Order: sequence, then structure tokens, then C-alpha cells
Amino acid sequence: MLLVDNTGHVIQANIAAQQLLEYSEEAICKLEVEALMPASFRGDHHHHRDAFFKNPEKRSMGNGRDLSALTSNGKQLAVDIGLSPLQAHGCTYILITFYLADKRREAEQALRTSMERLELAKQAAGLGVFDFDFRQNIVHLDERVQELWGGESEKSVTYEQFLAVVHPDDYEAKKLAIDRASDPANNGAYNTEFRIIKPSDGTEHWIAITGRMHFKEGHATRLVGIVQDITAQKILEKSLQQYRLENKAIFTQQIAAHTASAIAHELNQPLAAISAYSDVALHALNDTSSNPEKLKHALKGCIIQAQRAGTSLHELMAFLKEGKLVTERFDLNQIVKESLTIAKNEGYKEFHPILVLEENTMIVLANRIQVQKVLINLLINAVEAMQGTGVSTSKITITVRSYKDKSMAHVTVQDNGPGLNNEVASRVFEPFFTTKPTGIGMGLSISRTLIEANGGQLWFEPNSDFGAEFHFTLPFTQ
Ligand code: ADP
Repeated sequence: MLLVDNTGHVIQANIAAQQLLEYSEEAICKLEVEALMPASFRGDHHHHRDAFFKNPEKRSMGNGRDLSALTSNGKQLAVDIGLSPLQAHGCTYILITFYLADKRREAEQALRTSMERLELAKQAAGLGVFDFDFRQNIVHLDERVQELWGGESEKSVTYEQFLAVVHPDDYEAKKLAIDRASDPANNGAYNTEFRIIKPSDGTEHWIAITGRMHFKEGHATRLVGIVQDITAQKILEKSLQQYRLENKAIFTQQIAAHTASAIAHELNQPLAAISAYSDVALHALNDTSSNPEKLKHALKGCIIQAQRAGTSLHELMAFLKEGKLVTERFDLNQIVKESLTIAKNEGYKEFHPILVLEENTMIVLANRIQVQKVLINLLINAVEAMQGTGVSTSKITITVRSYKDKSMAHVTVQDNGPGLNNEVASRVFEPFFTTKPTGIGMGLSISRTLIEANGGQLWFEPNSDFGAEFHFTLPFTQ
């Protein structure tokens, strides 16, 4: 910046001006301002200077001409020059401001490049931009928005024209979004989705707008928004939603079927037992010579089985309803022994158990009842498989030991029945798969679900020499 008096002499220069024009402060302060411009500009300059002092007002110099400044070394610098009058002590001074034109050109070029990039990005993303001037009630639309709004829109339309294409059902919501954004109490964010109906062909399009409201003195003045056609996305969302609903229906049906079969599975055994006990009771009643103890025993059996069915159902419902797993620490070896006793008490006596239990206490963290159910199920399957197959001694070997990295307990239930052929082996864990005339085919499927819910795994291992071999793991307590 240079300060020049009404005789045209420089009286002050800031450091930037001294460096730019390559003068010391002392040297520049004595100069006439014309010394700082190339000879071609000097001729008329006195005349321009006088004119400025007669009518001093702030303006830029050169009327669009390229201007140059001359350095002490005779170098010409392309500059933009601004002139501002200053009044002090009754005199008028000119404050001359230089800007290096190269920098301006660089900035303009950078701006052009960034505009081009923005334009490319807009095109790639299919984005449009509108600019709504509140005070003039005019919405300026770029080409993309004009195209979305029907291709016949003008570059600038009134706000009412802009709204006219909005789907009537979405009109209120859109207005509300504008009202919210215009409230200075909010942060000016304007995000909304609505449908438009293109006047050109009557097609419906979903539009998303992300915008920002500008305020001046507490009033909304301008809304700039980015517009995107999200019709394809909406169609996809709708079909996904439809797909989810259908899937959910199928899933619900499957759950219903699974629940029904799980209930049937729980009731099958006790109902069969109740039926057998009732037969015995009927016989005892018909036979007057029969010992009353027999009748008593049969009826007691009925009660126990009915209670067992009730308890099982209760537990099953609690598990299905809550889906929560109540775990406790218990000794797996102990549960194996208890399960053997229960299976025998339930009439599955015809086998010789062999227990191979690792010496260490096998304390696992799981749901005790569920693990017991799995063990009983594996034992019953083994007994049923061996029944009537002519094996001289039905043996079931239960092994409990640590698994691989010792963080799991590993249980194996092995029988010496006929085993499973490949076809059966590949399907045993499928729900409803059974080879038994009165089977339901849910035992192994439920057992696997239960073990997995407890953090373990259950699998079948083919073993041609020794009947069937089922394995499961459970996590030890930490
Ligand atoms: P279900 O006992 O009602 O048939 P499961 O799911 O418990 O249902 O068993 C499915 C099928 O797996 C049985 O029908 C049987 O064919 C086969 N299976 C299960 N355990 C054994 C076993 N120890 N030996 C031979 N086959 C077995």
C-alpha cells in the first residue's frame, strides 16, 4: 500500500510495497507516483491524478486494462490497483493498493479448476443445485434441476412455480421442512425427501435435498440445496422391504413348525408312558384279584409322567419366550451320571454304560437342564438304535475329557449299534429327519441348537467299527 499526497508524492509505503517495488522506505518516500509506472502509462497520468483529486472516490484503476508497476530495477509487475481517498488535516490523500495480478490469475485459475471438478462430481453423482433467494422470491435452478423438474423449467422460477411439481401428498411435509430450516433458532440445515410429478410426462420421482439456509439479521435470506433423484434407491428399498416381510413370514412359519415339533418332542415320551401306565391301571381295575399296590404304582407313574411333561413344556416355553440363557457352573461328570440315572428311570435300561471320565473336575459354564436334555437324548437314541439289532451286549461308552486347547470340555457318546449309513449321517441334524416309525426327527436338531446356544458344538463322527459316535463340547469356566 502506498499513501500519496495531492502533489502526487509518495509519503508512506508499507513493507509489502517496499519489497514489491524494491525500494527502501527512504527512497520510495521521495518519489512522484509516476516514477512507479512504466513510461507508457506516465504521459496521461498527471491528468488522471488531477481528475481523481477533483472527484475523489473509492474505485479500481485502469478500467479493465492490464496495469503494471515499475520496480527500482526496471522490472514490470502485472498488478491490479485500487484507489481510496483519505481525508486528514483538511487535505486529501490517495491510498493506493497493489495486488499482484499473477496471484489473482492463479486464484481465478484455481477457482475455475475447482468449479470444473465440482461440475464433474455433480454430473457423476447426478446432483443438481438450486439457489432460492428469499427476498426476491426467485429460485435459480441449474441444468440438472431443470431437467428433473420436467425439462421445461426456466433457469429461474418463483418459489410457487418451484413447489408446483411437488406431489400433493408430500407438499405439507416439504413446507414444514422449509419452515424448520427458516427458523433462526435451528442451525439452518435443510434435509428432506419428497416426490415430484414431472409435468412433461407425469412420471413420479423421489427427490432428496440436502441444503443450508443462510440468515441475515435474524431472517432467512437464501437457501442453497443439492438435489438428487433417489427414485431407483426408493424402488430398491421397497422391494427389499417386501422381501424382508416375505422372509419374515416364512421364518415365522418355520418357527411355528419348529416350536410345534419341539413341543411334540417333549410330550411324546411322557404321553407314551402315561398311556402304558393307564393300560396297567385298567387291567388292575378289571382284575379283582390284582394287588392294589399295582394300581397305585401305575397311577403314581401317570402323575410323575404328567408332571414331567408339564415341567418340560414350561422350560421350553421359558427358553423360547425369553431367548435368554441362564448359565451356571457345574461338574459335567456329575451331569453325565445323573443323565444315565434319568434315562434308566425312564425305561431305557437295556444297556451297559461305560464311563471314561477324566480325573480333573470338569466344571463347565452352561445351562444344566439343557445339557442334561442333550445327554438323555443321545442316550435314548443309542438305546433305540441298539434295540432289536441282535447285539449281544448293548454298550454305551461316555467319555468326558478336555478338548484340544483345554478351554473346552469334550463329551463323546458312543454305542455299538448298527451306526449310521452315509445318507442318514448327512441328514441327522435336519429338523424332522427320522428313520423311526414313531420318531419326530427333532431330537438331534434341538440338541445341536442347545449346545450351540451354550457356546459349544455338537457333531457326528463316522466310525464304521463301533456303531454311532456323537460328540459335543462345552466351555470350561474361566
Ligand atoms: P428321532 O429320534 O425322533 O428320529 P433324532 O433327531 O434324535 O430324531 O434322530 C434322527 C435320526 O438319526 C434317527 O431317526 C436315526 O435314524 C438317527 N440316529 C440318531 N442317533 C442314532 C444312533 N445312535 N444310531 C443310529 N442312528 C441314529
